[in-house]
Amino acid sequence: QERGGNNSFTHEALTLKYKLDNEFELLFVVGYQKILTLTYIDKFIDDIHMQFRDKYRNQLQQQGVMGLLNGSFDFSDDFRGLLRAAEERTKGKAPSVMKTFEQSDKSKKTVKSMIEVRGEKGKENKKNKKDAPVQDVPEKKMEGQLKAPATVAAGDANQNGLTQEEIIQRNREEFFRKRQGKDKKESSSKSPKPTKPKTRRVWPLDSNKTNAKDLDYSEKLVNGQSSTSANNGGDTSVDMNLCRGSMAGDLKAVDYESSEEQEEEEEEEEEEEVVQETSHTGVKKRGGFGGMFGMLKGLVGSKSLTPQDMQPVLEKMKDHLIAKNVAADITVQLCESVAKKLEGKVMGTFSTVTSTVKQALQDSLVQILQPKRRVDILRDIIEAQKQRRPFVITFCGVNGVGKSTNLAKITFWLMDNGFRVLIAACDTFRAGAVEQLRTHTRRLSTLHPPEEHNGQSMVQLFERGYGKDAAGIAMEAIAFARNQSFDVVLVDTAGRMQDNTPLMTALAKLIAINVPDLVLFVGEALVGNEAVDQLVKFNQALADHSMAEKPRLIDGIVLTKFDTIDDKVGAAISMTYITGQPIVFVGTGQTYNDLRSLNAKAVVSALMKA
Ligand code: GDP
Repeated sequence: QERGGNNSFTHEALTLKYKLDNEFELLFVVGYQKILTLTYIDKFIDDIHMQFRDKYRNQLQQQGVMGLLNGSFDFSDDFRGLLRAAEERTKGKAPSVMKTFEQSDKSKKTVKSMIEVRGEKGKENKKNKKDAPVQDVPEKKMEGQLKAPATVAAGDANQNGLTQEEIIQRNREEFFRKRQGKDKKESSSKSPKPTKPKTRRVWPLDSNKTNAKDLDYSEKLVNGQSSTSANNGGDTSVDMNLCRGSMAGDLKAVDYESSEEQEEEEEEEEEEEVVQETSHTGVKKRGGFGGMFGMLKGLVGSKSLTPQDMQPVLEKMKDHLIAKNVAADITVQLCESVAKKLEGKVMGTFSTVTSTVKQALQDSLVQILQPKRRVDILRDIIEAQKQRRPFVITFCGVNGVGKSTNLAKITFWLMDNGFRVLIAACDTFRAGAVEQLRTHTRRLSTLHPPEEHNGQSMVQLFERGYGKDAAGIAMEAIAFARNQSFDVVLVDTAGRMQDNTPLMTALAKLIAINVPDLVLFVGEALVGNEAVDQLVKFNQALADHSMAEKPRLIDGIVLTKFDTIDDKVGAAISMTYITGQPIVFVGTGQTYNDLRSLNAKAVVSALMKA
C-alpha cells in the first residue's frame, strides 16, 4: 500500500519487515510476533539478503528470478545459520550502560570540528528553512508530526494580498470552470497539436436540435450553485440551494479535468523534459534542439539508481507535494518509500532520473488513493435489507467541516436510489444543530414527497432535543428505524476537536454501543497538516475509549469542500495515507446533487501537475 516509509507493517499481532533488492527484483520479508522486541531484525534481514545474493548471484544473472525459483535451491541451512548467529549476538550483548562524557565521541571532538562550515550542512539548513512555513504553528504534544500550517490557501492569500475567502471563491470558480469543460485550451499561447484535432464545440444556438427549454438556464447550475433560490427564503441555518437531479446508481466520479486536456498537458510536460533521444539506430525520436544538452545531463543509460541520483528530484517533489497541501511528514515518508523502491533499479535507456522518480511517485499516489477495501454502500444496504435491519452510518469530524450538509447530500443520493432514510440528530451539543437537520429533512422530503412513494415518507428526522446522551438517542433511532422499516439510519454526531477527551470518549461509546455498519470521518479538503492530526487522534481516541476488544476505527472518509481548493488536492492523499481507508464521498459544493466519488487518477494528475 506504499505506506512503508519505515519498511515495516503491523497487522493485529504480527509485524512484517521487508527489504527490497531492486537489482534482482527480490523481496525479503520477515514476520514475527509484534510483542517480541527483536533488536536483531534489521541486521538479520540484511544478512539474509547479502547471503542470498552472493550465493545465487550467477543464477540470478543468468536465469533471472523466475529461473532460480523454478529450479531447485536450498537456502534453509543458511537461514537457520544466520538466525542462530543473530540470536547469539543479541544474547551475548551486555546490557548497555550509559557512557560517561569522557567515553563519548563528543569528548574527542575538537572545537574546530563543531564549527559548521558553509557547504553540505548549510544546504540542509536552507532546505529546512524552506519547509519552515508549514511548521509555523506552535508545537503541540504529538511526537514526530509536523504541525499544521494555516492551510496552503491561506499562505497564498498572504502572498497575493487576497483574503482566504477570496482565494476559496477563486478556487471554486476555477473548479466549476474545469468541471463544466469551459477550460478553453485554445486561448493559451501554446500551439495546438495537429495530431489531435479538437472537435468543435457545438454551441446551443448552432444546433438545430436545441429548443427554448434547453436554453433556459435559469434552473441550471450557475457556478455550481443553482440560481433558483426558491425555498431558501428566510432560512439562515442551512445555506444549501435546492437542486433536484437524478443521482440514481453509483455516484459520478469527481471530474477534475477532462482526460483529453490532461493527456495533452502531460505530453507537453514530457516534451519539455526531453525524455527520449537517440535510439540504437541513431534515429532522433523526440526532443528537438535543446535536447542535446538535456540528453547528456539527463541520460543515465543503464546505470542503476543511487540515492544520490534521486535526492535532488525527490527534494523538488517534496516541495511540490507540500505546496499541493499534502501533509509535510507524509511527503517525507512517501518520498522515502519511493527512494527505497527505486534504489538499485536499472533505469531504462531512454528515461531520465526525473521521469523515473515521477512515475514511481505517481504510481504510489494512485495506489494510496485506490481503496484496498471497496465500499459499496448501495449493495451493502440491500444486504442489510435482506437481514431485515437498517444499514447504519455514523458521521464524525470536527466542527464546521460540513458534516450535516454532506449527510443531507448522502440522504438525497440514497433517496434517489429508492431507499428510505432516517436521520438521527445526535449532535445534542451545538445550538441549532437539530434545527439545521430539520430544515434539510423538510427540503429533502419535498424533493421526494410521500405521494410519489405510496404515502411513505422517504426521509424522517429522529430527534430528542439537546443535552441528552447521544449514544442513547442513536440506539433509539436504530430501533425506530427497524420498526418502521427504514433502510438506512444516518447518525449525525456533534463536531468535536480531536483533543477534547470527554467528547471523544462519548463518540467512542456511541460507536461501541451501536455498532454502525460504517464510521465515516468528515474532513474538509482545505486542511493541510491538520488532517493528519485530526485523523490520528480520532482513531486513537476510538481505540483508547472503546470498550470492545477489537475497537472500531474510522472506515471511510467524506472529503468536503473539494470545490474550494482548485488543484491543491493533497488532503485526499494525507487522509487516505494515514487511515488506509477509502474516500467514499466527495462534496463539491452547496447543492444536494454535488456529491461525487473519488477518481484516483484525476486527483493524482492534479497533484502532479506543475
Ligand atoms: P458541520 O458543522 O460539520 O455540520 O458543518 P455544516 O454542514 O454546517 O457546513 C459548514 C459550512 O460548510 C456550510 O456553510 C456548508 O454550506 C459548507 N459546505 C459543506 N460542504 C461543502 C462543500 O462541499 N463545498 C462548499 N463550498 N461548502 C460546503
